[in-house]
Amino acid sequence: MDGARVRIVAVGDELLEGRTSDTNSTRIQRALGRHAIRVEDIAVVHDDEAAIAAALDRTEVGDIVFVCGGLGSTRDDLTREAIAAWAKVPLVVRDDLVAEISERYRRRGIPPMPESDKQAQVPAGCVPVTNPVGSAPGLVGRLAGRRLAVLPGVPAELQALLPRVIEELDRLGALPAAREIHLWRTAQMAELAVARRTEPVRERYPDLGWSWWLVDWGVDVRISGESHQSADLDAAARAVDGLLGDTVFAREMVGLPRVVQDLLMASGQTLAVAESCTGGLLGAAITGEEGSSACYLGGVLSYANAVKVDLLAVDAGDLERHGAVSREVAEQMAAGARTRLGADHALAVTGIAGPGGGTDEKPVGTTWIALAGPGGIQSGRYRFSGDRDRNRLLAVAAALDALRRTLTDMPAFAPDALTWGRPA
Ligand code: ATP
Repeated sequence: MDGARVRIVAVGDELLEGRTSDTNSTRIQRALGRHAIRVEDIAVVHDDEAAIAAALDRTEVGDIVFVCGGLGSTRDDLTREAIAAWAKVPLVVRDDLVAEISERYRRRGIPPMPESDKQAQVPAGCVPVTNPVGSAPGLVGRLAGRRLAVLPGVPAELQALLPRVIEELDRLGALPAAREIHLWRTAQMAELAVARRTEPVRERYPDLGWSWWLVDWGVDVRISGESHQSADLDAAARAVDGLLGDTVFAREMVGLPRVVQDLLMASGQTLAVAESCTGGLLGAAITGEEGSSACYLGGVLSYANAVKVDLLAVDAGDLERHGAVSREVAEQMAAGARTRLGADHALAVTGIAGPGGGTDEKPVGTTWIALAGPGGIQSGRYRFSGDRDRNRLLAVAAALDALRRTLTDMPAFAPDALTWGRPA
C-alpha cells in the first residue's frame, strides 16, 4: 500500500487549555516509525461533536485517521458519538463488550456504573480491540473511505493499545510494508558531534532514511531502508557502529538507567549516590527501573555544604578553598557515599544548574561528576549549556554513562567523550 497518509485527531479540552501536552500524538508517530508512512497533520480539538466532525471533514478518502481521547464513560466523552454521526452509521451495543466491562468491574470489586455501558457502543463498521489496561476498547474500522483507529486518551492505555491497533491496521492491509531499522542510542555527545561523525556514511548511502534526534539520555541515530536496500543498510550499519563506537549505550529502545542496572546486576555489584544539584534525580532514574533494589543501596542528598561535611565527610577546608563545584568536593562526595553506604560504586554530582549562581570561572552548567569504585576514584568536569531542567538531566545522564563505561572496562571520563555541553 503506497502513498497512505496518516492524520491524527487528538480530542480533549485539556490539550487546548495547556493543562496536558499532546504526548499521545508523538507516541502514535513513533509507533508508525517502522512503516514508511507520512503523518500529514495533527489536529487538536475540543471535546465537542462539531469540532471532531470538522477535523474528520478535513481528512481525505484513503487516509489512515487516528483519533485519540474522549472514549471514557462520562458525558464529555463524545468521540464515539461524533464519529458515528459524522460517518452516518449507527452506534451498536456489543454484548461481548457489555460482558467484558461488567467482568472488569466484578474483578475490581466495584459495582458497574450505568454510564460504563457507553463503552460497549461501537460505530457500525468498526471492530473493538481489547484494552489490556483499561475499560475502553480501541476501535478500528473503515468508515467513509478512511481507515479509522480510535484510542483512549489516557496515555498508559493508548500506549498499551497502540501495538494492537497497528497490528489490526496491518492485518487489514492499511499500512505499507515495515522498514528495516537500525538504531543507536549515544551518550555524552552533542547532536552536532554525532551528526558530524556519521556524515561520511550518510554521504555514501544517501538513499537510506537518516535521522538524529535529542533524547533525555543523549542523541539517537536511526537509519532505515526498504527490504531491497538490505545490503546497503547492513553495510551502513557496520560503518556507523565503527564511527560511534563506545558512545553507543544501546542498539534498541532501552534507556540508559536500564542499561546501567543490567550491567550492575550482571556483575553482582552495588551502587550508591551522593547528589547535590540533581537533588535526587539520579536516584530516581535508577529506582525508576524494575529490579533496582538488587543493586541500588541508596544515596545522600547533600545539597547544603554542611550536609556534604557531616554526612559524606567532605573536608570543610576543601569546600572553602575550591568551592562546592570542584573536583576535590565531587571526589570526596563519591568516596564518602561509597564508604557510608558500603557500596561497590558511588556516583557523585555537584554543579551549577542555573539560571543563577554562575561565575566567570565556573559558569552556569559547570558540573563535576565523580565515580568511586573498586579501582579508585575518577572524575570529570562538564559544562552543560541547557536550562536548569536540561542541565540536571544531562548531569544524571553523564553520571550514569560514567558508570556504564567503567562497568564495561572503559575509562569513565575519556577526555574526547566530554563533547556534551562543551568541553571544559
Ligand atoms: P477516560 O476514561 O479517562 O475519560 P478518555 O479516552 O475519555 O478516558 P480523556 O478523557 O480524553 O480520555 O483523557 C483522559 C486523560 O488522558 C486525561 O488526564 C488527559 O489529560 C490525558 N490525555 C488525553 N489526551 C491526551 C493526549 N493527546 N496526550 C496526552 N495525554 C492525554
